[in-house]
Amino acid sequence: MGKINKEWHRANKMPKNPTREERMLWHREHLKHCDCHPVTPKLQKELDEFLKGRMKEGEINGNL
Ligand SMILES: [Zn+2]
Repeated sequence: MGKINKEWHRANKMPKNPTREERMLWHREHLKHCDCHPVTPKLQKELDEFLKGRMKEGEINGNL
């Protein structure tokens, strides 16, 4: 278990009923700024697939 980045969490609340996209983008940012909880293999896979899809569309040059 890592350290929580309280400031980041305060400024970046997860939307109440997040779409998949919102959830993925939140987690992507979360990974960069905070490690209060480990990334599960399931989430990692979801993120990989999400980012791969987005990169294909040329929307982001996403590095995780
Ligand atoms: Zn966190």
